[in-house]
Amino acid sequence: MDNCLFCKIVKGEIPSTKVYEDNEILAFKDINPAAPVHILVIPKKHIASLIDMQKEDEILVGKIYTVINKIAEEQGVKENGFRVIVNCGRDAGQEVMHLHFHLIAGTKLGEKIV
Ligand code: 5GP
Ligand code: ZN
Repeated sequence: MDNCLFCKIVKGEIPSTKVYEDNEILAFKDINPAAPVHILVIPKKHIASLIDMQKEDEILVGKIYTVINKIAEEQGVKENGFRVIVNCGRDAGQEVMHLHFHLIAGTKLGEKIV
């Protein structure tokens, strides 16, 4: 997608601090971290939002969770724990319309909403 911020990050047109990359998935540090560890894990393929995920994306989304676990281990937060958040749509406050999984950790996290 030409005008998508995260597609531009995938293409290297906008710089990012990468923490993981393979053919299908990219993970990079959030520019405005909400916790000591705040990493965004995204499919390289443009999927606007979780609700736009197709049946054919099920394996890809499963791989994203495997990558999240790998990064949590590398970042040293496996023992203490971490939170994964996907904001989908307006009421959830999704700002970037390219599916992304927030991996947040490194401190005692705030009140759970759900
Ligand atoms: P959302 O609110 O859509 O779930 O989350 C978007 C996230 O992307 C926010 O946490 C925001 O800080 C992050 N973000 C926005 N622009 C950039 C950018 O240019 N680079 C990086 N690394 N993160 C960004
Ligand atoms: Zn995109």
